[in-house]
Amino acid sequence: MRRVVLLGASGSIGTQTLDILKRNPSRFELVGFSLGKRVGFVSDVLRDFPSVKNLCVQNEEDAVNLRKKYPNLQIYSGDSGLISLLDHTDADMVVNALVGFVGLVPSVRALELGRILCSANKESLVVGGEIINGLLRQGKGKLIPIDSEHVAIAKLLRHVGIENAERILITASGGSFRDRKREDLAHVTPADALAHPTWSMGAKITIDSATMMNKGFEIIEADVLFGVGTDFVTPVMHRESYVHSIVEGKDGLFYADVSAPDMHGPIEYAVMEGDVPFEPTVVKSLDELPFHFAGFDPKRYPAVGLALESHRQGGNSNAVLNAANEEAVYAFLENRLPFLQIEEEVRYALKAVPHLDEPTLDQLIDTDSRTRQLVREHIKGGE
Ligand code: NAD
Ligand code: MG
Repeated sequence: MRRVVLLGASGSIGTQTLDILKRNPSRFELVGFSLGKRVGFVSDVLRDFPSVKNLCVQNEEDAVNLRKKYPNLQIYSGDSGLISLLDHTDADMVVNALVGFVGLVPSVRALELGRILCSANKESLVVGGEIINGLLRQGKGKLIPIDSEHVAIAKLLRHVGIENAERILITASGGSFRDRKREDLAHVTPADALAHPTWSMGAKITIDSATMMNKGFEIIEADVLFGVGTDFVTPVMHRESYVHSIVEGKDGLFYADVSAPDMHGPIEYAVMEGDVPFEPTVVKSLDELPFHFAGFDPKRYPAVGLALESHRQGGNSNAVLNAANEEAVYAFLENRLPFLQIEEEVRYALKAVPHLDEPTLDQLIDTDSRTRQLVREHIKGGE
């Protein structure tokens, strides 16, 4: 039996994680959870999971009301409340389904506490990869990805063996504007960008898919998780999102993880700690698969190059990359910034924010706030 704390329970990954826990009551006990502002959802979770002892919401006013309604539960609030929730809840596993930089400190704390960390929150791996790997090297906790590509890569590498792998092909749908030319994107709206062709996900990652910053993040995430270096990971355009990634073997064969685009599978793999049956689809050529594949064009999606360059710089660069991207994406979603300017804000911040070589967690937090401030002012100045 695994006692689980779920961070971000009300989101796309959060609600699908609840589905998996509900289906396996003899294997999981939900003992704590957090959500942001959708407080109406608290009673739904408590009805389905009476085992919950502690919870956290984003705003203190909501926490005050909930404490009156549920006097037997410990109820925390805000960013520090996420840490209190982890510190004061006896658990074996933490599922991080938060979106954005806010997921970093909880990921680090979960590992410090020796928990099994199942992380959908890719931003924490992109920004804090060095710190997280440092903790894992010290034997603190365990890290399992939830991102579908990384679950696929983990399964495939376990099957093929890293020593027998020639390279990893990470698949990309191309997002909502994949059939439009770059020069036709100047006036696209948030509603256009949120219409993802194959996946139903939270707003932020859907915009990151449209710029393909998401794929840049995922190549970095693959390096952090598998230690392979970014040159080992090649993006490949794949329209249907059925092939979650591919390992090309030194034997010349392609090993693929194939299933319908549904995050329940990767989440289940993570919380079951890899204990799920898996057989790769093995072909001599990708043409044998009944799907579309095409080469990736770096000029069409410059965000990928920005992400890889930032990762090469190292230090606090990925914190700048991520913070600038988050600020720009939310500005676009609120109609304060044109779509194509998202990348420009990231490019600007990577030049403007001073570089730090081996940042501590506090320095990453400081870099995050400074970058956001700078980008906010830059966007305001440009309006
Ligand atoms: P979402 O926006 O649907 O949900 C985010 C959750 O975090 C919500 O519960 C929200 O209330 C909470 N939250 C957000 N900001 C918060 C804050 N400041 N304080 C406290 N709580 C806060 O996001 P999502 O699509 O589920 O994505 C979650 C993570 O998983 C992201 O890092 C994303 O890149 C990754 N991911 C998502 C998918 C997907 O299919 N949705 C697939 C792969 C990876
Ligand atoms: Mg993914």
